[in-house]
Amino acid sequence: MKPKKKDIRALSKEQLRDFFEANGDKAFRGNQVYEWLWSKSTHSFDDMTNVSKATREMLQENFVINHVEVDSMQRSKDGTVKNAVRLHDGLIVESVLIPTDTRTTACVSSQVGCSLDCKFCATSRLKRMRNLNPDEIYDQVAAINKESLLYYNHKLSNIVFMGMGEPLMNYNNVIKSIEKITSPEGLGMSPKRITVSTSGVPKIIKKMADDDVKFNLAVSLHSAIDEVRTSIMPFNATFPLKELKESLVYWYEKTQRRITYEYIVWGGINDRKEDIEALVNFCKYVPCKVNLIEYNPIDDGEFQQASPQTINNYISNLEMNDIIVNVRRSRGKDIDAACGQLANKS
Ligand code: SAH
Repeated sequence: MKPKKKDIRALSKEQLRDFFEANGDKAFRGNQVYEWLWSKSTHSFDDMTNVSKATREMLQENFVINHVEVDSMQRSKDGTVKNAVRLHDGLIVESVLIPTDTRTTACVSSQVGCSLDCKFCATSRLKRMRNLNPDEIYDQVAAINKESLLYYNHKLSNIVFMGMGEPLMNYNNVIKSIEKITSPEGLGMSPKRITVSTSGVPKIIKKMADDDVKFNLAVSLHSAIDEVRTSIMPFNATFPLKELKESLVYWYEKTQRRITYEYIVWGGINDRKEDIEALVNFCKYVPCKVNLIEYNPIDDGEFQQASPQTINNYISNLEMNDIIVNVRRSRGKDIDAACGQLANKS
């Protein structure tokens, strides 16, 4: 049996250069091919028009390009676009393009399914199948960048890791994808325009601070009371708020960058006075802002968005304590593209 061909995109630029040199060609050829693979997002060796036919054939014999394919695309009434992305092994993840007047944001997945069990999130119904590779994350972004140019006439401006999966449980690959996204040879995007959203893995938050990462951190908090948080995010039993808090203090000391807390208010769950007070207190540990997210119902109505009055109470209490608060409306609900709705339904 012939040995399985290697995914050429698993090679660094240096390794590609070495490959060409070892095969009697110029190292420079590696740069050309690397550019095709990354900044031009080529799917086929045949497209590499500035390398000779013989070289292309040689590449074909040795490698494959494990590129993702956009399997299907849906467009919402509000302009949101959802891609179902087929990976080389047939598994599917979803990513979303969210346009506003001034920018377009990509919401990308980091895992196929998710190992966390957040009771309000549709992705939690899919068990975690595997981590995405750096190039599979990169490809989702590149595909959305193309759609942004096509539909909105400008390049993608922001990225949020708020699709399927828990990015900090696939930390190394997420970091590698961001390196590629921000590098001039990739998409050349500023890390300041990238936000990684996590349910909060304290050890990895500290590691990110040590690694001196330049992107933004968002934490899906949803409750600042352990008992409540554990009931909706069972993962909190393993990493309770005290540890989360310590890691966030560490993050801020090292990076001096404000943290965003994502927070959904549900009737009967976190709509009491003590819930609001606990959030206000939690917000005092490090400079932060709070995004109150509209809840996207996912099924039988176990969870209900709290009343506008409750949400106003949250807002006024936070503002009274000089904490920045925004209310985030959901986008793309009609095509199941909103936060927490990604579940490969199609
Ligand atoms: N695992 C990561 C990223 C994926 S979830 C994290 O927890 O942050 C992305 C965001 O969507 C999180 O803030 C999450 O709490 C929120 N979310 C999940 N289900 C939701 C739902 N049904 N309605 C609104 N937001 C939801």
